[in-house]
Amino acid sequence: MLRFITGGKYFSSGNEPAENNPVTPMLRHLIYKIKSTGPITVAEYMKEVLTNPAKGYYVYRDMLGEQGDFITSPEISQIFGELLGIWFISEWMATGKSTAFQLVELGPGRGTLVGDILRVFTQLGSVLKNCDISVHLVEVSQKLSEIQALTLTEEKVPLERNAGSPVYMKGVTKSGIPISWYRHLHDVPKGYSFYLAHEFFDVLPVHKFQKTPQGWREVFIDIDPQVSDKLRFVLAPSATPAEAFIQHDETRDHVEVCPDAGVIIEELSQRIALTGGAALVADYGHDGTKTDTFRGFCGHKLHDVLIAPGTADLTADVDFSYLRRMAQGKVASLGPIKQHTFLKNMGIDVRLKVLLDKSNEPSVRQQLLQGYDMLMNPKKMGERFNFFALLPHERLEGGRHQRNARQSKPFASLVAGFSELAWQ
Ligand code: SAH
Repeated sequence: MLRFITGGKYFSSGNEPAENNPVTPMLRHLIYKIKSTGPITVAEYMKEVLTNPAKGYYVYRDMLGEQGDFITSPEISQIFGELLGIWFISEWMATGKSTAFQLVELGPGRGTLVGDILRVFTQLGSVLKNCDISVHLVEVSQKLSEIQALTLTEEKVPLERNAGSPVYMKGVTKSGIPISWYRHLHDVPKGYSFYLAHEFFDVLPVHKFQKTPQGWREVFIDIDPQVSDKLRFVLAPSATPAEAFIQHDETRDHVEVCPDAGVIIEELSQRIALTGGAALVADYGHDGTKTDTFRGFCGHKLHDVLIAPGTADLTADVDFSYLRRMAQGKVASLGPIKQHTFLKNMGIDVRLKVLLDKSNEPSVRQQLLQGYDMLMNPKKMGERFNFFALLPHERLEGGRHQRNARQSKPFASLVAGFSELAWQ
């Protein structure tokens, strides 16, 4: 076995007293694994803890909402999903109103976001009336897929289930649209699609590296020899393969790399380059500047990532500069731009006013205003969350549909959200 170097001083874990470190079934599983094959990478740890098919945090629980571990924008306000629905319609119109499209969501949580988007599609039925829409959800969690089906599907049409198939569930939404579930993006049919990933990339496994006098060394997770049933961070004694994902001119002394995010962005880019459409990614993250962002959340509080694994969400900020690099050459990218700028450009103020004017109920009005503040306030989600889009090159170069009318405008002004929304 390799001799690992203790790396505890670099990271915010390891100070919890033993009584706060319950031996969860996941901890037992990881200890067994490390005892048999040696320390594991942070990526392997995240993957096991979050999506292990038998015990993973995401697989058998509903962690969203006030009673759960964290809350997301679509759960805070219906306006969030409505504006994203308008973004997709705006892109659909700008690219020639194709006769069919797929709406594909990666990691749909409770299905609230896609539900709000579909409501907008119904409200704008006269615009979309000749368009064949289908919904495709990529979800690894059995529990959440059941909740999504309950939220989105028409009860009277029984769900078709086939656990062994890449399409493990099929049904019809409340508005009569076919809906299917997959575990992997590559199983979703190729075709003109709009892709959505909200708070999805931040749960993908990251490898962590520390710069040392000997060069980059990967952070691993090992059993603490001093305390029974406790994990600790250590540094690998020599170079490891994931180092290939670090930029040659990297100046930070600690980095997180997420190869899985790269694979998904490449797949999205290839699909969009081939068939058209767009992808909208929204998440917290940075543009290649942050260092140690790996953290846990339990009951809306920060949680030591190595304590009671399987009971808390694990997450790392998305590196948008990496996503952009992976898309380069295949499709164009826009952003990242701050959530408050994107939502403002999409007309959140007008939408809020319409909803406030419609409601006489003080509690509903208060809820709308609180939701707006949470999404928009720079100290809350307004600045922490970013929007990023992938689009076919022709879309930004002034393709067939823009060429005549708007050839002289700078490209960003063609895309809603990334500049002020201008309905034609
Ligand atoms: N988008 C939702 C939920 C975010 S939580 C919202 O904003 O409310 C992350 C979601 O991604 C959950 O639905 C989780 O089950 C799913 N997920 C996590 N890892 C995944 C993976 N590797 N493949 C597909 N879905 C995954």
